[in-house]
Amino acid sequence: MKIIDGYLFIDGDWRKSSTGETFECVNPADEEVVARCATAGIDDVLAAVAAARRAFDEGPWPRWSASKRGAVLHRLADLVERDADEMARRETLNTGKTWFDSRKIEIPFAAQVLRYFAGMADKWGGRSLPGREDALLLTQKQPVGVVAAITPWNFPFLLAAWKIGPALAAGCTFILKPASLTPLSALHFASLCEEAGLPKGVFNLVTGSGSLVGSALAGHEEVDKIAFTGSTEVGRMVQEKAAATNKRVTMELGGKSPNIVFADADLRAAARGALTGIFYNKGEVCAAGSRLLVERSIYDDFVKGLAAKAEGMKVGDPMAKETRMGPVISRAQLESALDYIAAGKAEGARLVAGGEKADLGKGFYLRPTIFADVDPGMRIAREEIFGPVLSVLPFEGEEEALETANGSSFGLAAGVWTRDIGKALRLAQGIRAGTVWVNAYNLYDPGLPFGGFKQSGFGRELGIEAIDSYLETKSIWVQL
Ligand code: NAP
Ligand code: MG
Repeated sequence: MKIIDGYLFIDGDWRKSSTGETFECVNPADEEVVARCATAGIDDVLAAVAAARRAFDEGPWPRWSASKRGAVLHRLADLVERDADEMARRETLNTGKTWFDSRKIEIPFAAQVLRYFAGMADKWGGRSLPGREDALLLTQKQPVGVVAAITPWNFPFLLAAWKIGPALAAGCTFILKPASLTPLSALHFASLCEEAGLPKGVFNLVTGSGSLVGSALAGHEEVDKIAFTGSTEVGRMVQEKAAATNKRVTMELGGKSPNIVFADADLRAAARGALTGIFYNKGEVCAAGSRLLVERSIYDDFVKGLAAKAEGMKVGDPMAKETRMGPVISRAQLESALDYIAAGKAEGARLVAGGEKADLGKGFYLRPTIFADVDPGMRIAREEIFGPVLSVLPFEGEEEALETANGSSFGLAAGVWTRDIGKALRLAQGIRAGTVWVNAYNLYDPGLPFGGFKQSGFGRELGIEAIDSYLETKSIWVQL
């Protein structure tokens, strides 16, 4: 089936939006319009929910054998791999991430995640419980029903796949509302559903604004669960909406993750980890290691080395082979990062790299930016910038490292660099965050759950844990 970017995908069909309106998708590398997508209206949301509801209540999908559902998910993974060039092209065109990241990392990882959950489709289940002579006590897991996913623009298809995989493996039906800035990869994915053998109405795609489409999905009585990834602020609004019908919700929200370098670490590896921790995907990573904590005895040299490496990083056309960092996603995001840079200077942090736009004619390019001598009270130490801006804070000893690391309202991720195994494990246990990397940063595996502590959200994606948030537990008492 051919995809047409100006359409919605509802009940197995491409449809014009009821509003007749479209919105533009822009390539952040050159500010050119690359596609026009359909602006869904409320009628389209109602149609998508009705389709997903019907597919769940009456359709074959939840009634098929688990292995048959798994086979369809495997085929979806095959098709994503077959079309990896097109998926990656759309991703890079729409986000400014490098071609290498799209083609070699994200799209293959998304396919791998679909495969991981394809394998899980026939492996989850309930229990039979000991403890009574007069009754057989059982639990049965059942799919939660209609799932609506609201996703952000930083890893457009990958973060959708983190939700599509477990939801479909659980037997749920699905509505995706991608970020308005980045719907293109999801549109291509929708074009693969029929070929993969997914029944009509199991996967639906509704492009349009968050305040209308996202909000309507969160408030709709026939939607059973919302899987949200995005900002802490919008996450709170979505929860409020969802509360009206007591929906299940999972929230993957923001972060201000500490990356801690001790003097006894492999410092070359730590420097590499500090740089990928903040500059991978232009810092538009919820788990970005945006607070770098460096032990005082190595602080000056470490910061100097880091600044030199950041200054040497090639910023430019994301399609070019030598490019290490593409443009940030939008003019608004560029300006927001520049505001934070101004705030950092005003609050007395020391700028040691970048700090301004990279002037390449057109496009939203920012130079990799590092602030040293950041105080934990400064805005650039507390607030999520979501761009290539690193705040470096000195510390003295393990205790202060832990205290500073935990001195945040967020708790998504952290990194610890040391050769002392005891120290590494004490910190890994002591840091209040969903993921702690030891001598690594920004690495993900389909089997390892990901999610937040504190205001970084709740619920886990990936891993065996992920499927539970798409299942209900039913208890069955059989009197003997
Ligand atoms: P966002 O503004 O929160 O948007 C996320 C999604 O919510 C988008 O699809 C957006 O649609 C939609 N939305 C906006 N307003 C809504 C409303 N009132 N009701 C329902 N949905 C609404 O976040 P973003 O700007 O896309 O991404 C940046 C933020 O996401 C960062 O703060 C980052 O930390 C966070 N993030 C977290 C994770 C994680 O895994 N924890 C991953 C990635 C990003 P529109 O695009 O149409 O506005
Ligand atoms: Mg937003």
